Amino acid sequence: MGEPMIGAIEAGGTKMVLAVGRTWEDVRDAPRHLLATTTPDDTLPRVMDWLAERHATTPLSAIGVASFGPIDFSQRRIASTTPKIPWRGASWVDAVARRFGDLPLGFDTDTGAAALAEHRYGAGQGRDVVAYLTIGTGIGGGLVVGGRIVHGLLHPELGHMVVRRRAGDDFAGSCPSHGDCLEGLASGEAVKRRWNRTGGPQLPEDHPAWELESSYLSDAVVNVATITAAQVIVLGGGIMAVPGLIDRVREKVRRHLNGYLDVPELTTAVDRYVVEPGLGLASGIVGAFALGRAALG
Ligand SMILES: [Zn+2]
Repeated sequence: MGEPMIGAIEAGGTKMVLAVGRTWEDVRDAPRHLLATTTPDDTLPRVMDWLAERHATTPLSAIGVASFGPIDFSQRRIASTTPKIPWRGASWVDAVARRFGDLPLGFDTDTGAAALAEHRYGAGQGRDVVAYLTIGTGIGGGLVVGGRIVHGLLHPELGHMVVRRRAGDDFAGSCPSHGDCLEGLASGEAVKRRWNRTGGPQLPEDHPAWELESSYLSDAVVNVATITAAQVIVLGGGIMAVPGLIDRVREKVRRHLNGYLDVPELTTAVDRYVVEPGLGLASGIVGAFALGRAALG
């Protein structure tokens, strides 16, 4: 019981996931409290109410917020370009300060937090440079270098990197800002729209969608590997649950790099380089815990 109690908030565009715990395992296994994400005026007080109730019984030592983005770190606010219009300029920092005063707060993007969680507790343990990509309805990613989430001009936006359009793919792309960036070509939304699916049953494993998908994702992995020298690249998100998809990505990465970067991770042991999240679906909430824990120093 010597560990400090941390409040963890995984702030998603459709729901807020809340948990408290003293260790990352506590938070991974804790019952989650879920709230719908509506507007900041409605959602932020409800999130703070729940944490304040926990705080009244067992005082929190810090709070971590892993939020959807983009985030303007110079202002510590959700950026004015977020497609979630009511949230433009919303401030977790102010919301926490109003209710909890100067309680330490760790605040970052959901994907940066997930990268930190994988670095500290998951598939990236012991590695200095860890990249995390989540391939779901959209595509996002975070990068940890030397134990810190990379910030610079805003933060990395791995989902919006440019990849090579494959011959025969005439889908315009689903990204509202760029059309055929990685997210536009390879997100769950892109897969759905390219193949005209409106919900319905999952595309079968042998559908050509997945060969194309693995092609685009292998470009993304090669880009991240060559630019960042990441020591491990974690691929999470719902799309990665497609059986065999990660193996196809690994094989294409190996073939594309063609031995040029002569390390086992990129030649004979790509299965140790392109990996599933060590924390499974808990990377986000454990990431929020990791941010809170890090805010304590
Ligand atoms: Zn884009």
